[in-house]
Amino acid sequence: MPIDFRIETASKLARAGRLLTPHGEIETPVFMPVGTAATVKGMPQDILEALGVQILLGNTYHLYLRPGVETVCKFGGLHGFMAWPRAILTDSGGFQVFSLNELRKVTEEGVTFRSHLDGSSHFFNPESSMAAQIGLGADIIMAFDECTEYPADRARTKASMELTLRWAERSKKYFEEHKHEVPWRSNVHVGTAAPGCPSERSSPGLDDGVREDGQKSSLRPDGQPRAAVPTCSEKHQSLFGIVQGGMDLEVRKESAERTVEIGFPGYAIGGLSVGEPRERTREVVAATLKHLPKDKPRYLMGVGTPEEIVEYASFGVDMMDCVLPTRAARHGLLFTSEGKISIKQARYAQDPAPLDANCACRVCQRYSRAYLRHLYASNEVLAQVLNTLHNLSFYLDTMRRVRHSIRLGEESRSLASLWSQPLP
Ligand SMILES: [Zn+2]
Repeated sequence: MPIDFRIETASKLARAGRLLTPHGEIETPVFMPVGTAATVKGMPQDILEALGVQILLGNTYHLYLRPGVETVCKFGGLHGFMAWPRAILTDSGGFQVFSLNELRKVTEEGVTFRSHLDGSSHFFNPESSMAAQIGLGADIIMAFDECTEYPADRARTKASMELTLRWAERSKKYFEEHKHEVPWRSNVHVGTAAPGCPSERSSPGLDDGVREDGQKSSLRPDGQPRAAVPTCSEKHQSLFGIVQGGMDLEVRKESAERTVEIGFPGYAIGGLSVGEPRERTREVVAATLKHLPKDKPRYLMGVGTPEEIVEYASFGVDMMDCVLPTRAARHGLLFTSEGKISIKQARYAQDPAPLDANCACRVCQRYSRAYLRHLYASNEVLAQVLNTLHNLSFYLDTMRRVRHSIRLGEESRSLASLWSQPLP
């Protein structure tokens, strides 16, 4: 088994459990900080460990462009490259390419896009996305999907959903044939290519816009046969499927049922937070969850505020990620148990209080609002570090409180009520 998912307590729709990955155990529901370019901006890995981060998210699109999959793979994958021993999840690149808008062209075969870095032309398809994600070596990787734009009519939504289903089949097929090539299954010496590391010149459709058939590749980039990989290890990556279907509940249902038919060890709900009203997001999430298997992890992609992650956990979502805590922190927007604070405001200039009296993080234990405001106003690097540290801590502690509440069998609780009691 690639991953083992156990639900330990269920309270109404919410569940608390454990997800065992090749790089450690994750308590669910879990919040996954976003480390786009193999770094959570401003946070050293040892601090992330101290904060209790159990799993990080990396973005395939960004890592593929820079430093490149081959480089990361030579270090035994992202774990070795960024010195992160715990679990990692990578997205497929589909959403990032989707957000390039004018810079992409979608066909049955895949997506041609231009790099936001230098305008160079690239091509992603299910096979090259899988090859990239196997090379990056995250514990959980995602099927290549098309994120349907908002708004979209039913015909367009259905056609996009069908394309995502065909790409899910192709993703699974490529993954099953190549999953043994993940770099941490080899005895990798840092800086030496593992047998499965892709060459940026020979991987399927990876960088020159021309897709080659990499499905039966059994040769290394140098033309030699790939080394036999021991079959005794049961550790390998897990590929999750992604449900699409826009804001159309019927299409969502069909997408969920047919993605489950293809069969994955976990399922994500994608295509949300693309400009729709928040109320619509809630409806789509609640309706889609009904059609996903209860015994498999469910991952809601790219959502939300502290209030929303509490609510979605009460719906039965097990995994969430969002750039909000880290991005907002860099803009001086801080989440606290008593609501949002914009630390740049002059009203905090003389305020000796901690940012959040209920927060146990090292920022709230040590510094005043006045000092944090000063750092931000002076554009000091430390402002970004401390703000990010607090916001991440707040999200992680919120999820800790959610898990505790589910384990106590409580009715779903609001963010404020979760923070009104001390954790044991
Ligand atoms: Zn704090």
